[in-house]
Amino acid sequence: YRLACSAALLRELDALVARHPSTMSLEGIQADASDGYKAEIRVVTVADSVQASSFDDRVRIFLNFGQHGRELITSEVALRLLRILSREDKSASKKHIDRILSRAVFKIVPMENVNGRQTVENGSLCERRNGRGVDTNRNWKVNWGVKEKDYDPTEEFPGTAPFSEPETRILRDIALRFKPHLWVNVHSGMQALFMPYDHKNATPGYQAAARMSFLLQTLNALHCNGNCTVGSGGGAVGYFAHGTATDYMYDVLKVPSAFTFEIYGDVHANRDDCFRMFNP
Ligand SMILES: [Zn+2]
Repeated sequence: YRLACSAALLRELDALVARHPSTMSLEGIQADASDGYKAEIRVVTVADSVQASSFDDRVRIFLNFGQHGRELITSEVALRLLRILSREDKSASKKHIDRILSRAVFKIVPMENVNGRQTVENGSLCERRNGRGVDTNRNWKVNWGVKEKDYDPTEEFPGTAPFSEPETRILRDIALRFKPHLWVNVHSGMQALFMPYDHKNATPGYQAAARMSFLLQTLNALHCNGNCTVGSGGGAVGYFAHGTATDYMYDVLKVPSAFTFEIYGDVHANRDDCFRMFNP
């Protein structure tokens, strides 16, 4: 499988959105840190009438891809999903897409960590952090900065403070304005469908857990042949992650369904063959 480099992928994305001005719009959001570090994140809105003044009556879906640099495949999946929603890719019937878009609105971030991915494309194939060495999936303000015994800063340095990173602030601010009903943070490295919590071996209260678990079990049967690990991030993986986006979306922003999907992983890959471990 040949993966596109980020510049080519983003060019393709921009062209796709430009071909569908009534259903897709693209915004480039910039933020910087006090030391001058900058990030720009593209976010694509998809709806049957994307210029509508309000999406109050819609199911609001917020999807994030490419949070970790080395997980290149996730941004390819974002582009594929956008092609399907545009109806250029005919994998789903027009009727099916029409029905989804009559009820839902999407905000899709195809590549959160553009800077970190650049590092990977320059040869550091195992890099997952952003352009200045912070794991942006440890930079959110839920149990931020707590470190496990096996803490490895080259993997999960959480930054100097919660929301120290421009990428994290951009995503948080999109969520604050958009008020999603559904959040999915798409990663690779294994095959799993996670619900909260990442930072402890527990799920949310019974009703919420039952609802989310039902959704994940259904997806597991439909798309994973039952082979995906399903459960709370902290409970099912065997390690705790502190300061994650999904925990913040659920706990603080009260997004009712908040998930992390791990869409691909090669468990037989050599430990230092990160390209193979995270990408087909
Ligand atoms: Zn990841």
